[in-house]
Amino acid sequence: MNKPPIDWHARARDIKIDGRLVIDGQRRDAASGETFACISPIDGRVLGAVARGAAADIDAAVASARAAFDSARWAGQSPAARKRVLQRFAEKILGAREELALLETLDMGKPIAHALAVDVASTARCLAWYAEAVDKVYDEIAPTGHNALALITREAVGVVGAIVPWNYPMIMAAWKLGPALAAGNSVVLKPSEKSPLTALRLAELAVEAGLPPGVFNVVPGYGHEAGEALALHMDVDALGFTGSTRTGRRMLEYAGRSNLKRVFNELGGKSAFLVFEDCSELQRAAETVAGSIFFNQGESCNAPSRVLVHQSIADDFAEMVAAQAPHYPPADPLDASTVMGAIVDTTQLQTVLGYIQAGRDEGARLLAGGAQARVETGGCYVQPTVFAGVSPSMRIAREEIFGPVVSLLRFKDEAEAVKIANDSPYGLQASVWSDNVHRAHRVARALRAGTVHVNQYDEDDITVPFGGYKQSGNGRDKSLHAFDKVTELKTTWLRINAG
Ligand code: NAD
Repeated sequence: MNKPPIDWHARARDIKIDGRLVIDGQRRDAASGETFACISPIDGRVLGAVARGAAADIDAAVASARAAFDSARWAGQSPAARKRVLQRFAEKILGAREELALLETLDMGKPIAHALAVDVASTARCLAWYAEAVDKVYDEIAPTGHNALALITREAVGVVGAIVPWNYPMIMAAWKLGPALAAGNSVVLKPSEKSPLTALRLAELAVEAGLPPGVFNVVPGYGHEAGEALALHMDVDALGFTGSTRTGRRMLEYAGRSNLKRVFNELGGKSAFLVFEDCSELQRAAETVAGSIFFNQGESCNAPSRVLVHQSIADDFAEMVAAQAPHYPPADPLDASTVMGAIVDTTQLQTVLGYIQAGRDEGARLLAGGAQARVETGGCYVQPTVFAGVSPSMRIAREEIFGPVVSLLRFKDEAEAVKIANDSPYGLQASVWSDNVHRAHRVARALRAGTVHVNQYDEDDITVPFGGYKQSGNGRDKSLHAFDKVTELKTTWLRINAG
């Protein structure tokens, strides 16, 4: 029998928000007793109070993480035992899928259908994948001389700090948690002050799954308070950061001012999508641009926000992209058919509207959208927006907007396309659309980006590394390579007596 559709509005009315932090497996208030209001961008409603974690709470969380690590009650378990706990953690996440999806949607405004199908599903898949991986990673013996044996082993680095943004709160947390926990580390997670709710629930589910108390702690709070205290902490061994390039720069300074902890930055992007005149799939390319830039309200680090099109097809292609915009109407995120929801908060809404104004002021041609939407709801909505006639020097071509705004530029030949694409401080992702296999490979090699897609954009998988060149970051999340960030390599020399 088919289940009746979920009444998400009724569930939203009834939901109980617990904004207390999680340290040592226990919910508790911030040491200061202070809280901040958690406001939904769907309608401006106050969802509840969240503990305003600060330095004292970070000290307590790091002490708990260190004690858990030193006790070896997690790091000392066999990889197979850790695997079982993490598999249960992934199952618990799937068991709580509707609650987690609702929290994510209420907190940051994404469509409920996406929160379920993408955010919850990817989070569980990520943890299950690292659980599965960890007892299949072998140590090494170096090819040294006969009278010695050199073992190269991986050890957990210790206490890992994780600071994550608001656009995919659970997934970004899972990308840090998966490899760190699987390898035996303890973690202190600082979620964004704009979307802290699901991280707090994840910590509770982890304890229910059997993760020892103290191995995974969550301290919500502001960046300049809880975030700074975590990044400066002398007893944090490694810091995984995902967020803006501006804040990522600070993470490196904090490490320099404290204990030189390893810092892995996953930062902003201005990804280029190159469409050549020999591409025979222009309609699919236009649909892919729209599907990728308007997904998650454009609040994706890898969104293809710069579309570079050969001059011979530029006008037609711009019209094709603009024709896609009506398929992404901003709508109620709690409606299961919605494909574009609310911008995370009023600050980000104003940022996006400011960039739209800058595009108009600098002379770009507005082909679709360009305004706030659903103002009567009290929420934060922007129309899907398409600008053509954008020149490489305009702000909307250079700066990360982090909203549903796409800029179309034109190029005259392959060399110019590559030059414009690479003329950016960012280098997260790129895409090349061409029927010419030689050109596709040549251009893919020439592009300075961590991931290059050919004739597609949306392919993604936990098995491949994710990260950027240049000021898009210096680390790689996902895949087995992520273990490199949260483990130390140890060499152990053993003398072998000859006879
Ligand atoms: P942000 O840099 O403002 O904040 C990210 C996190 O850092 C938050 O938890 C915040 O509280 C904290 N923070 C802010 N200032 C801090 C400080 N001085 N000290 C310590 N912590 C501080 O970024 P955001 O607005 O939350 O997220 C959007 C950005 O994240 C975009 O630039 C986007 O491209 C990027 N992003 C990158 C990836 C990736 O994998 N490369 C993925 C998602 C988002």
